[in-house]
Amino acid sequence: MEKILLLGINARFTHTNLAIRYLRNYVVELPYQTVIKEVTIKQTPFAILQEIWKINPQILAISVYIWNVEIVKVLLPDIKKVLPKVILLLGGPEVSFNGSDWLRNYPEIDYIIAGFGETGFKYFLENRKILTEKIIKIPNPHFSEIPFPYRDEDFPEINGKYVYYEASRGCAFRCSYCLSSRDDQKLEFRKITDVKNELNFLLSKKVKIIKFIDRTFNSNSQFSREIWKFLSNLETQTKFHFEIHPSFLQEEDFSILKKIKPGIFQFEIGIQSVNPKAISAIHRKDDWQKSKKNIFRLVKMANIHLHVDLIIGLPYDTFSEIINSFNEIFELQAHHFQLGFLKILTGTPLQEEKDKFEILYSESAPYQVLQTKWLNYEEIILLQKIEKLLNIYYNSEKFVRTLEELVTKFEHPFAFFRELLRFFEDNHFDFIIKNWQKNAFHLLKFIQSKLPDRSGFFIDCLRYDWCKIAGSHYYPDFIRSSEIDDFRRKNYLLIKQKIEEKNSHFGLQLKKAVFFKPLTEEFKKKYPEEKNITIFFPNGKKLIL
Ligand code: SF4
Repeated sequence: MEKILLLGINARFTHTNLAIRYLRNYVVELPYQTVIKEVTIKQTPFAILQEIWKINPQILAISVYIWNVEIVKVLLPDIKKVLPKVILLLGGPEVSFNGSDWLRNYPEIDYIIAGFGETGFKYFLENRKILTEKIIKIPNPHFSEIPFPYRDEDFPEINGKYVYYEASRGCAFRCSYCLSSRDDQKLEFRKITDVKNELNFLLSKKVKIIKFIDRTFNSNSQFSREIWKFLSNLETQTKFHFEIHPSFLQEEDFSILKKIKPGIFQFEIGIQSVNPKAISAIHRKDDWQKSKKNIFRLVKMANIHLHVDLIIGLPYDTFSEIINSFNEIFELQAHHFQLGFLKILTGTPLQEEKDKFEILYSESAPYQVLQTKWLNYEEIILLQKIEKLLNIYYNSEKFVRTLEELVTKFEHPFAFFRELLRFFEDNHFDFIIKNWQKNAFHLLKFIQSKLPDRSGFFIDCLRYDWCKIAGSHYYPDFIRSSEIDDFRRKNYLLIKQKIEEKNSHFGLQLKKAVFFKPLTEEFKKKYPEEKNITIFFPNGKKLIL
């Protein structure tokens, strides 16, 4: 039996490839041996080539996306050098709309499957001996007829990773920068009973997180509500991620969502811009005031992890419009605020309009914007640096209290980040995410330089944040206090005894715990709950004395 290798080149080890599993299950009745192999873009093309060679397939199919297209381009010329007889097929969004260019530039490619690939792939396998065309584009049946992509054998290997799932395919909207806005991406839903059964299957495998990749999960409220209701009644540790449109949320949704166990749901919300001219130019539907009100409601409910996005480089978005969007979105206080940069994708309506909007973008993936009629390259560079600071100090959630206080001392949130950036550049500080000690030190230097009269209060805030980061009894020297050290030394045994009387487990952990004691009246007044001693344990728990 001939062997087909379905190769998924994922962006990260934690990701899984849904497309190759759909293809595998769609051709299950055909007389082929299908093998799935997943690698990541962190591996070298040389290492990926060795993996392919080891499997030695007769047919090799690779799904090509924005995150792996550059590595695929490097791989292609070498594959047939080591496997001269292999039949090479490409599919996926990166090759679906410019297939002839790919065939011209890479003569090693035998076939391209364009569009949703299941039927095209099957057609290829059934007809490959008589095929004359090199680009295969066959419409799929209704999405509800496409078989569920997973099998028992996929688990437990993918349990700890993102398990992707689609309850619907296509999109009802027409955002011009997005491939899902194309006419051939009609919105189709699975049968609700199938969705429930399939989710039950995934839940029975105890997967860590199910990421719904439905383009706008709540575009059909009745359908999304039914699934949310179903999930809200389950006893599960699995988390669920959805991309939603906030303005579509209604009272009925809120009454379901407020009952969701904290930490189980994650929502990703693309705001993109609050400038109505930009939103209308990209044909996106939004009522910002309504969206804002609904996002605030979700933030207040505090049981759903919220991720909001802003896109830099949209038509009509000048630097000052972007500052306005940044501030409005920052004020929402979502858990994660992603500053994304416009990407011009082949096959999108915006690519056709790029000259009208004078958009210049990079020729290589991810085809990021370099300049527009309204935004110059210098401003884009500055915004890229702001994005780094936003990730270090806001999205990391490591400096919550310090930032909450600090931002209010500036004209607006963007002004704070811009000042911080100037300070970083003047002092030649590096943007190093995950080196929290260095990040805390840089923030302290900034505070001492900009707000010298208030630095005592901010050091209390920084110490408080550090206690949550630390995971041990250790304070770095620059925020260490002899008063706290003395207190710990003098009171340790007494506290240990008292804790052990109530909970011996906490007593055991005390050695590694970090003690927090505010030293300024301002902090004590503002946070009366923590005005005395708070002990932070390495397991994330805290005890207020
Ligand atoms: S950006 Fe989202 S809502 Fe807009 S077309 Fe794409 S998938 Fe649909």
